[in-house]
Amino acid sequence: PATPSPSRRSQPTLLVSRLYQPANLRDVGQDSRLSVEMTCKSQRLMQQAGLIHPSNPGCYYYLPATVRSMEKLVRVIDQEMQAIGGQKIDMPSLCSADLWKTSERWDLMGKELFRLKDRHDADYCLGPTHEEVVTTLIAHQANLSYKQLPLLLYQITRKFRDEPKPKFGLLRGREFYMKDMYSFDVSEEAAYQTYESVCQAYTQLFARLGLRCVQVQADTGNIGGKLSHEFQLPADIGEDRLLVCGSCSFSANVETMSSDISACPQCKTGTLVESKGIEVGHTFYLGKKYSHIFKASFSNAQNKPSIAEMGCFGLGVTRILAAAIEVMSTEEGIRWPGLIAPYQVCVLPPKKGSKADEAGVVAEELVHSLGNTLPHLRGEVVFDDRTQMTIGKRLKDASRLGYPYVIVVGQGALEDPPTFEVMCQQTGETMFLSKDGLLDLL
Ligand code: ATP
Ligand code: MG
Ligand code: MG
Ligand code: MG
Repeated sequence: PATPSPSRRSQPTLLVSRLYQPANLRDVGQDSRLSVEMTCKSQRLMQQAGLIHPSNPGCYYYLPATVRSMEKLVRVIDQEMQAIGGQKIDMPSLCSADLWKTSERWDLMGKELFRLKDRHDADYCLGPTHEEVVTTLIAHQANLSYKQLPLLLYQITRKFRDEPKPKFGLLRGREFYMKDMYSFDVSEEAAYQTYESVCQAYTQLFARLGLRCVQVQADTGNIGGKLSHEFQLPADIGEDRLLVCGSCSFSANVETMSSDISACPQCKTGTLVESKGIEVGHTFYLGKKYSHIFKASFSNAQNKPSIAEMGCFGLGVTRILAAAIEVMSTEEGIRWPGLIAPYQVCVLPPKKGSKADEAGVVAEELVHSLGNTLPHLRGEVVFDDRTQMTIGKRLKDASRLGYPYVIVVGQGALEDPPTFEVMCQQTGETMFLSKDGLLDLL
């Protein structure tokens, strides 16, 4: 017999008792290899709620809820990158040292580069970023025409950096996910336009996530190039110091200033206010730095070879996840940007043996009808079947993981007409709604 297609198969109920989300704070105590300093809120909350588990310094197990959230974040990033013409690729993480020696970054990167040798004694590194690799790809292409530019290639892959101080959980790992995009343009002017459109896409991405983000002038570091901006989420634990003018649009990372000055270099009158930020994205206008070295050229309108103008654009995918938790959450529980919450709804049936016990059936029916009536909630509704626990205890767990909506099915569900208690995380409101009211809300 034919197997039903996945979309037609009925979705199994997600039971809290079966979800793998081990609260793992106490587990790490004995093992010094695992005993990370709990230095920030997002790391503590993510370990308490069973979202991540430390493996070795700067490396984590991403547990199911994290993977779900990451997949959602990747989807939003894909939408924004593809809306400006980005095409997704996937490049090797194992990179030949030859490329890095050619760009002279083999030495420049110092200890941050994870280096290894293959069986033939050839040098390799684990990619911390991919300017060399992607430019080589373009250089290999003999017949790239100006008609194919701008070309925007991006990937979302693991990056490896031997950070001097991996810390703050997913905020600074040694192995982490980055979205890195590389652009190839016919001229400096065209490259600036591409640069601008990527910055706008970043701004749009953070707006969709509901995260306040500031775009500041930044240093180009060892990537090199002429123009650069960082996208920073204001937060006290942020490691970057930002200067923002109170009177005009000027904003910059302190690293770009030769001395610390207090008057705005742009309007000359405004005072600069200092704050801290978490760098979640970084854009660079590279010019011909890499395309010249690797001879990445295209044939121009006169059918002559011409060196491409390049840009590169990073987003810290795992860092965005942790930074969102860091800036949105309370000390007691995680608050997510709605778009990337691992699950949208949690339904709580009454405690076994309580007066409202019979409402358990209504709760189960509710879970099924939410998934069946509202397609966007398919696979998004969790049923907290741990009915030996009080509602209060389960509510506390729900609040720790941070579902955008929690529905308590109690005595009200047995009345005529039935009502449900709904807690909306974003507004902090509690409402008593009929089933139709509930479907409208969700
Ligand atoms: P930082 O200043 O925080 O060390 P960076 O300037 O070295 O970051 P970039 O080379 O600009 O980082 O990389 C692009 C993006 O990758 C950063 O904006 C950040 O969001 C993310 N990122 C960089 N290093 C890490 C890391 N160790 N862990 C998680 N994300 C990172
Ligand atoms: Mg760094
Ligand atoms: Mg930086
Ligand atoms: Mg940077």
